[in-house]
Amino acid sequence: MELENEREAIVRFGLKMVASGLTTGTGGNLSIIDRSSGKVAVSPSGVEYAALQPHEVVFTDMQGNVIDGDAKPSSELGFHLSLYHRRKDVQAVVHTHSPYAVTMACLGWEIPAVHYLVGFAGKKVPLAPYATFGTPELAEIVAEHIGDYNALLLANHGLVAVGSSIDTAFAIAEEIEFVARIYYQTKSIGNPIILTDEEMDTVLEKFKTYGQEKMEE
Ligand code: 13P
Ligand code: ZN
Repeated sequence: MELENEREAIVRFGLKMVASGLTTGTGGNLSIIDRSSGKVAVSPSGVEYAALQPHEVVFTDMQGNVIDGDAKPSSELGFHLSLYHRRKDVQAVVHTHSPYAVTMACLGWEIPAVHYLVGFAGKKVPLAPYATFGTPELAEIVAEHIGDYNALLLANHGLVAVGSSIDTAFAIAEEIEFVARIYYQTKSIGNPIILTDEEMDTVLEKFKTYGQEKMEE
């Protein structure tokens, strides 16, 4: 089977999305692009992650034409593609309905730098205005509002995270849900202290060397 790794990754991260509480039922969707061929692997529409089989993963081109698979692609294929067109650094898109991020999105709030881990998205998580799910209008709004951020709240809907791999995009979605929860909790009992722009500059710089250094070839 072609692009076996992408099929397997979509299934694995779909299951992880439910196990981590980042979505429920058939909510949210995932995709990975292979830039050399221009092929996009995307989760099928309305299939329970628990039941998702690798052969049900759909492959499309960058215009959304199905090139492999019998299932109908995610209804949000439009914004996955608009993100791949807009941001050449993006190789994977993870869309969740994670409860705390959605809470902010339903209040029409952005997520500020209440915790340094907001740096996974940028200096904040911006908010895109509401548009009906699965519409060209939403695809356009998402591409317009992502800017250089790695996560974007969708008003009255959910969160979109983008990354250089599916692992990265998923980690961003997970960390932003944590930050959204902290923001909710702090707002519930007091006034959260927001990190300054300068502090976030320092964090973003430090993220560049966080973790294990890559060995020189
Ligand atoms: P799909 O099942 O079509 O991917 O839709 C889920 C969703 O989250 C719509 O925004
Ligand atoms: Zn959705």
